[in-house]
Amino acid sequence: MTREAYVDQDVCIGCGLCVSIVPETFRLNDAGVSEVYNQAGSTEAKVQEAIDSCPVNCIHWR
Ligand code: SF4
Repeated sequence: MTREAYVDQDVCIGCGLCVSIVPETFRLNDAGVSEVYNQAGSTEAKVQEAIDSCPVNCIHWR
């Protein structure tokens, strides 16, 4: 991927949807919120799908 995704963890509600859609890139951390653990694990299209699906719009591109 040429762009980097990140999660605004102050906003994330830990619903797990992004992890379900792209488990190769997102995971829930010990605090129960999502984080990008493998930027290169998936495609921009899949990450965009997670961005579009996030109920609180807290996944962004840098
Ligand atoms: S879909 Fe959004 S709110 Fe749900 S865990 Fe992922 S980043 Fe957090």
